[in-house]
Amino acid sequence: MEQDSPHNHYRSYSSGNHLRGIVLYIMSKAILNSCQYQNYRRIELIVVHCSATRCNSPTPLEAIIAWHQARGFATIGYHYYITRDGNVHAGRPLHQEGAHAAGYNRYSIGVCYEGGLLPDGTLADTRTPEQKDSLQKLLQRLKEDYPEARIVGHRDLPGVHKECPCYEVKEV
Ligand SMILES: [Zn+2]
Repeated sequence: MEQDSPHNHYRSYSSGNHLRGIVLYIMSKAILNSCQYQNYRRIELIVVHCSATRCNSPTPLEAIIAWHQARGFATIGYHYYITRDGNVHAGRPLHQEGAHAAGYNRYSIGVCYEGGLLPDGTLADTRTPEQKDSLQKLLQRLKEDYPEARIVGHRDLPGVHKECPCYEVKEV
């Protein structure tokens, strides 16, 4: 299916080489197609974020890791990161508490998509069709593996005064 080939993903991938594009695609599919359940932590919430970066400025996983490390985190604060090409990247291991939603990290999973800002810096839902598709599949996957968990947007949490993730998150 042309729509869903590694080559197609690679074409929309703005940095790295062909092999890297294929490896990331395979890893992404592996995440979506395997059980993500781990029994180390109770999970009550799946929180969706945007990276609050401009949609025309590529922000690979490595950039988020470096950014979060500069803020004093051990590594990336999210458990999953979805780049504009639709690839799902494994972030912080699921058995570890994330660093993405103050006051809610202990019992949650953090999922982030690349973007959230227009080129001029305006907050917006900048998700590509590939990101929407992967996000939907990942949330379905997580809901299957953590049926008790509620899916919410960062801004839906009490006490949060930002627009993240810049769209209305619904249950899957
Ligand atoms: Zn957020």
